[in-house]
Amino acid sequence: MSSPTPASTDAYVVIGNPIAHSKSPAIHAHFAAQTAQQMDYQRLLAPLDQFAATVHTFIAAGGKGANVTVPFKLEAFALATELTPRAQAAGAVNTLKFDGEKILGENTDGIGIVMDIVRNAGFALRSKRVLLLGAGGASRGALLPLLEQQPAELVIANRTVAKAQELAAMATQYLPEAVVHASSFHDLDGHFDVIINATSASLNDELPPLSATLFSSATLAYDMMYGAQPTAFLRFAAEHAAQCRDGLGMLVEQAAEAFSLWRGVRPETAQVLMTLRAELQASAVA
Ligand code: NDP
Repeated sequence: MSSPTPASTDAYVVIGNPIAHSKSPAIHAHFAAQTAQQMDYQRLLAPLDQFAATVHTFIAAGGKGANVTVPFKLEAFALATELTPRAQAAGAVNTLKFDGEKILGENTDGIGIVMDIVRNAGFALRSKRVLLLGAGGASRGALLPLLEQQPAELVIANRTVAKAQELAAMATQYLPEAVVHASSFHDLDGHFDVIINATSASLNDELPPLSATLFSSATLAYDMMYGAQPTAFLRFAAEHAAQCRDGLGMLVEQAAEAFSLWRGVRPETAQVLMTLRAELQASAVA
């Protein structure tokens, strides 16, 4: 039998529906052990129509913070009593911090992908030509942190072009000096230094309609989705000589940012990422 949680242990959760698949408890357990923080982190399934009630019950029980995942990131944005500038720009919240009556909403997804590309993959974004595929929640969260790296140009391509145009307009409101354009998949031309797949096409192992000429051997192809096997997008990119990376590092880095907000200490991520990668690969052969 596991020993009861000591009263001095701060409680955190990841809230979603479904939630059983979430790797966040394992990631935060690694971080807590590494930084000697007394904390407990569990999965919390919220009924689809009871996100706010679930959060308030957790706060009443002494909860200190929460990660929020599909499909509640917009509701978390609405529930927060204060928003960081990043969350405000993203229009979505993946991290909540509770302090008395205050519910602080933050979005760490965007900084997560930037950390994974720039620091973990060692791929500078400054002065590069960047293509962001998709204009949903993940793109929206990533957009400003990517632009803060000062790429030469960032093109947002989406199936529904109007949504890409909306995102580009939002970005220029926040960063008027940024060079950001919207496009359909078919009107893209030239090749890109970095191509980020933030569409959900990968969930069905589908590929957005992309021309092979967008890729070169100097291109970093990044799929926000991760898994034991490469996605259709990463397979296509590899066939056209690009360097490939999936979103497992983004997951670990966004968690590290949340941990840092809650605990005031940023954990090391390299070992945790290696451990998760090994577990993912072991699950594929099991
Ligand atoms: P959304 O549902 O908000 O957006 C989906 C986007 O994908 C839209 O732009 C949609 O286009 C586009 N799309 C869907 N199907 C296709 C298709 N077959 N071909 C081309 N475009 C398509 O999803 P999210 O933004 O929340 O998530 C996107 C991806 O990012 C998911 O794979 C998710 O797993 C991943 N993710 C990874 C994270 C990590 O930590 N690694 C964190 C967050 C997300 P349209 O507007 O035309 O409908």
